[in-house]
Amino acid sequence: MAASLRLRWLPLLACLCASAAHPAGAAEPKPAYLDASLPVEQRIDDLIGRLTLEEKIGLVHANGLFRSGGVERLGVPALWTDDGPQGVREDVGLTSWTPAGRTDDFATAMPPGLTVAATWDPELARACGQAIGEEALQRGKNVMLAPGINIIRTPLCGRNYDYYGEDPWLSGRMAVGYIRGIQSEQTVACVKHFAVNNQEVERGSVSVEVDERALREIYLPAFEASVKEGGALAVMSAYNRLRGDYCSQNSYLLQTILKGEWGFKGAVISDWGGTHETRGPVLGGLDLEMGTRGPYDGYFLARPFLQGVRDGTYPVSVLDDKVRRNLRMLYASGALDVRGPGALNTQAHRDVARRVAEKSMVLLKNEGGLLPIDLGKVHVIAVIGDNAVLTFAAGANSAGVKAFREVTALAGITARAGRSATILYAEGYRQPEARRGAARDLAGVATSEQSAASPEESAALADRAVAAAKEADVVIFVAGLNHQAHADDEGTDRRDLGLPAHQAELIARVSAANPRTAVVMISGSPVSFDGWLSQVPAVLQAWYGGCEAGTALAEVLFGDLSPSGKLPCTFPKALADTPAAHGRARAYPGEGGVVHYDEGLLVGYRWYDTKGIEPLFPFGFGLSYTSFRYANLQVQRTGDAAADVAVEVTNTGTRAGTEVVQLYVSPDHPGVPRPDKELKGFARVGLEPGETKTVRLSLGPRSFAYYAPDAHGWKVEAATYRLRVGGSSRDIRLEGALSVAAPLALP
Ligand code: BGC
Repeated sequence: MAASLRLRWLPLLACLCASAAHPAGAAEPKPAYLDASLPVEQRIDDLIGRLTLEEKIGLVHANGLFRSGGVERLGVPALWTDDGPQGVREDVGLTSWTPAGRTDDFATAMPPGLTVAATWDPELARACGQAIGEEALQRGKNVMLAPGINIIRTPLCGRNYDYYGEDPWLSGRMAVGYIRGIQSEQTVACVKHFAVNNQEVERGSVSVEVDERALREIYLPAFEASVKEGGALAVMSAYNRLRGDYCSQNSYLLQTILKGEWGFKGAVISDWGGTHETRGPVLGGLDLEMGTRGPYDGYFLARPFLQGVRDGTYPVSVLDDKVRRNLRMLYASGALDVRGPGALNTQAHRDVARRVAEKSMVLLKNEGGLLPIDLGKVHVIAVIGDNAVLTFAAGANSAGVKAFREVTALAGITARAGRSATILYAEGYRQPEARRGAARDLAGVATSEQSAASPEESAALADRAVAAAKEADVVIFVAGLNHQAHADDEGTDRRDLGLPAHQAELIARVSAANPRTAVVMISGSPVSFDGWLSQVPAVLQAWYGGCEAGTALAEVLFGDLSPSGKLPCTFPKALADTPAAHGRARAYPGEGGVVHYDEGLLVGYRWYDTKGIEPLFPFGFGLSYTSFRYANLQVQRTGDAAADVAVEVTNTGTRAGTEVVQLYVSPDHPGVPRPDKELKGFARVGLEPGETKTVRLSLGPRSFAYYAPDAHGWKVEAATYRLRVGGSSRDIRLEGALSVAAPLALP
């Protein structure tokens, strides 16, 4: 980073030196590429005109783990990228994954993507992105490799925690907010992984066979919104293949759709080590080859590309276009001007992280009003679970952050309740050791694993937990996953939905010993609740909560706040019920290197609702400590296929609370197969007891459209569209309708 800080000032130094050589009155004019008063494209034209072929090639491949080359001769600094969605990653060596061992690379650990999505609050996503952008700026990074927006197709995907859930509209809204936030701080957002990177099994090679409608309607819309509305200036190509071609050289994805149809002007960056040859990526639309190992001049887009330009295999214009796209990132990040100071580990950033954690928690069950816990009535609280004392930010692999501060569940509960109640803690179960600092594979993913407790140790841990439960007035059982291999892990998928380390049996024993047991689930994907759910009165899905996870958890458990998160993905009853399990191995994880998305459009709730399969907890679901009434739905037509929808929501309980109002669209008697319903609008509304507010949502033609592969475009059928409003995909309170009289083809 020191190098980057030095290089950041080079253009300025170059100017100062120039003016020293030409004293007052005779100063040489600034070259256009350094003149901030000129339009960026003009500056880029000027710079490209000055570059040698070798210098241009240096801009389109890595020359360090997270860095591409600059042009020292002209004062053009290197481009520094860094992970990732949870905050700015710890610095590693220039050419090795070994931590650099710095003391100034601690960062604010933001909650990961799925947690952000569970808030259903794009404005908060924006604040989150902005805080990360400010930290990136302070740390000298030009590009943040974030957000990750792949759709959750199977609950088993190891990286679900990093993404925004199963719905394209929700993912798109959150991504747009987050990207705008990052890019408001002289930092480029690199949205990833483009596209259909929906499993970690064989992620480096698996080929996805998906029909065109599912590709366009489910897997691409959040990327489209990221580019067109979010203005993302970088896109990371995925490791996997689509229809046989690696995404890093898939000209259908990169040239036809991204750069052609969507008009993307930024750079396509390969995932690390995800480039496999020279010709395909050069002509297919890749602009920057990144990787995990040197020597960098041997990269496909280094010497072999140079040679190909020299001997006429590739026109210089192809190289110039890549250079231009890379330079746009440099200019947008202020690298050729003066970059702002940014800010690291501020209280304001921690406050954003806390707000995300607070608003993301989803109350799944609360029988008999066990929650919130009334500290006036409770004297002894047993906190049980390994996850109550673990920190998670560093374990998130490439998204991992060396957290400046991370409040565990136990620390949060103790800080909030420890003055008035006795807190007993029992570990209860022990998962395999966190894989921090372990050996890493080519892509920097930790590979080693340490074993969990022995059977004897496990039995003793469980007995002590049951004993603690018996002594307590109330039990908080902190369960879940922890970013180990096969447990919310980049590089491996889960093998099943089960909780590791015999947690299910232990929850059953503990809740038998003390029926006043609340389970707090820390996980970044749906887990099985089998064997204990009916026995436990309260369950709170807390996700991975970032640096203030424990603080926010305590606020919700003890009633300072009412839970207001909603599920961004369906929690299924069984793996066999899930869309990707439908065709067995062919559908997931694939056979012979190919995975068939046989469920087509029916991903997430679209599957359960269209097929009539009862989920455990539906998409969009989440209880509150209060209750809400919906009334007076009004639909006002604003165009042939457009409407404003208004609905009154009243807090009918005795506590303040926030409802996430959801609007789903269902066509009546469609002429083409359509899912039962699709989310097309949502809004959070905060209400005091007794208060009523009107929530307004707008629908445009795309809200009603389907992708017509034959016409290569979006169409709206003439039909009546039901507009269903409610508190989850299975809790529709009111219904209106809009009729579209004649079919429409969208531009
Ligand atoms: C991940 C990317 C990440 C990159 C650099 C890859 O393994 O898939 O998301 O940005 O590594 O760390």
